Amino acid sequence: MDYKKLQKVLEKNEQPAFRFKQIAKAVFHDGISSFDEITTISKDLRMILNKELQIYPFNVKEAVISRDKRAIKALFELEDGNIIESVLISPKPETWSACISSQVGCAMACDFCATGKLGLRRDLTSDEIVSQAVFWRGYLRENNIAGTYTNIVYMGMGEPFMNWENVKESITILTDESLCDFPNRGVSVSTSGVVPGIEKFADTFGQINLAISLHFAFDEKRDEYMPVNKAYNLERLKKSLQYYLSKNKRRLFIEYIMLDGINDSKEDAVALTKYLRSIGDKKLIIVNLIKYNSIDEGFTPSTTDSVQKFKELVKRGGIACTIRKSIGDDIHGACGQLAGKNKCN
Ligand code: SF4
Repeated sequence: MDYKKLQKVLEKNEQPAFRFKQIAKAVFHDGISSFDEITTISKDLRMILNKELQIYPFNVKEAVISRDKRAIKALFELEDGNIIESVLISPKPETWSACISSQVGCAMACDFCATGKLGLRRDLTSDEIVSQAVFWRGYLRENNIAGTYTNIVYMGMGEPFMNWENVKESITILTDESLCDFPNRGVSVSTSGVVPGIEKFADTFGQINLAISLHFAFDEKRDEYMPVNKAYNLERLKKSLQYYLSKNKRRLFIEYIMLDGINDSKEDAVALTKYLRSIGDKKLIIVNLIKYNSIDEGFTPSTTDSVQKFKELVKRGGIACTIRKSIGDDIHGACGQLAGKNKCN
């Protein structure tokens, strides 16, 4: 819901100030799906809200649940007909985390990513971004699914820092106590390495987590598979990360998709460790190794054995390293698989 529009509607209808809090809490915090559920306001006001505002700026086309019930992928049809995806994941029992999109498609064209194959169609508005996170609150409540839901990751479709103004506004709404009230430390933004965005983020959001989709520690390889590297190479990226760490002293998350025979050798692990150590305090850096989730063609995931060996090498270099278990790959809801269409049928 566009909260600024709500403010205007309430002002126009001469409602007392506390009404805003009441309605905002019901929509953003409780995840209601209709204004008719707010029984503490008059029927007349409910009718006005129904006429003037929408709770979600999209229709839910479908929600698909993974076999292990630890991932749910929703397809949202926006008002202009574009489709975006969001995934709710349970990394631990009774703990939920939403992966949300920031653009329809993506211009960054990372070679191993389904969204990158779509190209950029448009940026999402802050309302379209926030509403994905709010939708999952309502979904958990309506389906009586137990657990805490405090984590939001900007890791769905799109490069968040190429839609900076809307992403900035959406983070502000998500963490505003009078609106969504998600904890600052539960929100993470992941970038492919858009340096101006990292610097603005460092200046604006001291408490929000930053993840870098690094994937390669050699410029030649990064240039080949991630065109963003031609604009902001590893050296330039390093300077922006040093700036981020100097401002925030927060942990920096490094995402590394493991591609068989491409970036999973001993040389790659050693180069990665050397690069990360050159950024700054190694205690502030943590690497997440992600086994590649197949999209249509092209790449093969590294073997379990090579992922394990890679992890040991990174740890031996003094950098914390974990292997992230893939969740939701059977519904094409895992990292790099979001393409705005349901491939499950
Ligand atoms: S990995 Fe991220 S930045 Fe790269 S194409 Fe996919 S969505 Fe865009």
